[in-house]
Amino acid sequence: MRYLPVHVDTQGGRIVIIGGEGAAEAKLRTLIKTDAQLDVIAPAIGDEIARWAERGIVTHYARDFIETDLDGALLIYAATEDDVENGRIADMARAKGLLANAADYKDACSFITPALVDRSPVTISIGTSGTSPGLARAIKADLETRLPSTLGNLALHINQLRVKVKSIYPDLAARQRFWAAIFGAKDLNAQLRLSEPALTEAVEAALGGGQAAKGGQISLVGAGPGNPDLLTHQARQKLHSADVIIYDRLVSQGVLDFGRREAEYIYVGKEAGGVSTPQEKINSLIVEKAQEGLSVVRLKGGDPLIFGRADEELNAAREAGITVDICPGITSAAAAAAAIGQSLTSRGINKSITYMTGHDAKGFAEQDWARFAAPGARAAIYMGIGASRFIQGRLLMHGAAENTPVTIVENASRPEQIIIATTVGDLPDDLQRGGITGPAVLLLGFTPAEAVTLSNLHEAAS
Ligand code: SAH
Repeated sequence: MRYLPVHVDTQGGRIVIIGGEGAAEAKLRTLIKTDAQLDVIAPAIGDEIARWAERGIVTHYARDFIETDLDGALLIYAATEDDVENGRIADMARAKGLLANAADYKDACSFITPALVDRSPVTISIGTSGTSPGLARAIKADLETRLPSTLGNLALHINQLRVKVKSIYPDLAARQRFWAAIFGAKDLNAQLRLSEPALTEAVEAALGGGQAAKGGQISLVGAGPGNPDLLTHQARQKLHSADVIIYDRLVSQGVLDFGRREAEYIYVGKEAGGVSTPQEKINSLIVEKAQEGLSVVRLKGGDPLIFGRADEELNAAREAGITVDICPGITSAAAAAAAIGQSLTSRGINKSITYMTGHDAKGFAEQDWARFAAPGARAAIYMGIGASRFIQGRLLMHGAAENTPVTIVENASRPEQIIIATTVGDLPDDLQRGGITGPAVLLLGFTPAEAVTLSNLHEAAS
């Protein structure tokens, strides 16, 4: 091993960066997270570095480099845009016994900078001894998705618990066995996501002091419109660590695939006879699973807080004294707007956008139709397919023009996505002719950026 990874204490240290453009900026992006004093030596600096200088994060010396800049530096980064100059500066620094890095010039470096996964105080550095930075970045990207953003807080919390553990286990080997038992249990993935109270509980219980049973938890998670790439980072992490995943009809397989194979998957969409699982049954299922001490993910299409009956599930959990965290998702209206390349709000056209449903508990949903029939009104209508004749009738009755545009977006973001540009006058017929069975959003008052009509859609398909 030619390169030894070490974690250098930067507190009270001075790091010197020579250069003010792209190479220097790239190094500084990591260095600004340290506690070091950062001196940037360059006649001119780029906008990002200038912003850091304005905020006092770096100190800029607007001049050429001179040898005495190196004196007393903890680390030197020669990061001008000139490789030869970088090599010269790094050689000079090394001759003085200082640690130096020359950007893109490995042979002149006494140290090279790793790819970093930063969950301070937990930091993971990935090095390939300069052989393959692309591979290091790929490993970093993989670790980034797997390690929760809360890992740093967990480490800080462990640090606090260590005092107590040490008082009970003064012997180092015994202490190491203790922590191995805490983190070596069944699933590291889940362990790394322990909340601070859950970790305290686990430690207390292992120390023999805790009576409380392990508390389960519930996360209400937005699965987005279907394309797994549109899932949030947080949602992926929740899925990774869930013991139980309770999901709806609109959740795609690609999203479910982020769950562990060992997890329990419970479908609560329409049952075989076409009847939905009663909401009360879902509420009690979520609560029961959490009370068994399990980590429950309640996965809902789109955003869980939009037409998702989230209140009922939240209330059931709260009444049972179980805390719920909520992880938002991309709602279908946002995906549908992206699909047609149009802004949901446009200056000069609409100052508001309504997300409305075609159905409510009583049947077809009444709205303030006069408002939506007015010229320029815009709305994203969810669950509007079955209600399309009703919606059309109400809009026309309140004076909407027959030719008011409506765009139908079925299966937004999914491979089978269909876009049909129609009008209020033709809406129900075009839905039928297009064979639209949903899920679809009706964008009232919108025309796709590139016109797609039913006829040219059929031409494209044939
Ligand atoms: N919470 C969801 C909405 C649930 S209601 C969200 O935020 O998107 C169910 C309705 O969502 C469907 O009737 C349909 O109108 C819409 N929907 C869900 N997924 C969709 C998709 N991929 N494309 C278009 N509409 C979708």
